[in-house]
Amino acid sequence: MRTGVFGGTFNPIHNGHIKLARAYFSELNLDRMLVIPTRVPPHKVSNELADGEDRLRMCQLAFAGHPEFEVSDIELRRAETSYTVDTLEALHARWPEDELFLLTGSDMFLTLTEWRRWERLFELAVMCVGEREPNLFGQLQAYGRYLESLGARCRVIDIDPVLVSSTAVRERIHLGLPVDRLVPPAVAAYIAERRLYHRDG
Ligand code: ATP
Repeated sequence: MRTGVFGGTFNPIHNGHIKLARAYFSELNLDRMLVIPTRVPPHKVSNELADGEDRLRMCQLAFAGHPEFEVSDIELRRAETSYTVDTLEALHARWPEDELFLLTGSDMFLTLTEWRRWERLFELAVMCVGEREPNLFGQLQAYGRYLESLGARCRVIDIDPVLVSSTAVRERIHLGLPVDRLVPPAVAAYIAERRLYHRDG
């Protein structure tokens, strides 16, 4: 199986994540995609982090009806901070025949050599990236070539960026503005029902 691995805080999941996941799925001819909310985000700290159960549930709602996108609680179940390399080791142990493709947005991709045990990371999966902001394609290709010189396998995919972030979604909620153009309707409904990210919530 060709298995995509898409990790993130997903606080909350938004249309940029979904578009990236779908574009990769078809571009890389994947058989399935694991969507993995992180338990404790190693790269960022936020005092507005919805709890793991809510973030997991929103991912499930976002991909409902698409069984090829499997939302996994592998990181949320762990007792400690998990690093991507640990997750990939666990997936590799479970499905040794699978080829793993790690999906990242450009901001994450450009920091890959700072990730824990990046040499092992490069052995375990193909590093994949799409543009998060316009006009980054050349820079991503150049960085991909640099990573390849370090032993990585890379795929730089040409997708139209979607200019949305979880931060922007949360800010709109603080301001009392609708978010239904930034997240799927079922996710918007879940946020409203649970009053997630509302300052008075
Ligand atoms: P925040 O605004 O809270 O920092 P975020 O929107 O960056 O969150 P994450 O959950 O941190 O969301 O992102 C998970 C992965 O998805 C990362 O690899 C990130 O680069 C990528 N990503 C996020 N938003 C987009 C987007 N609009 N287009 C492409 N990739 C994205």
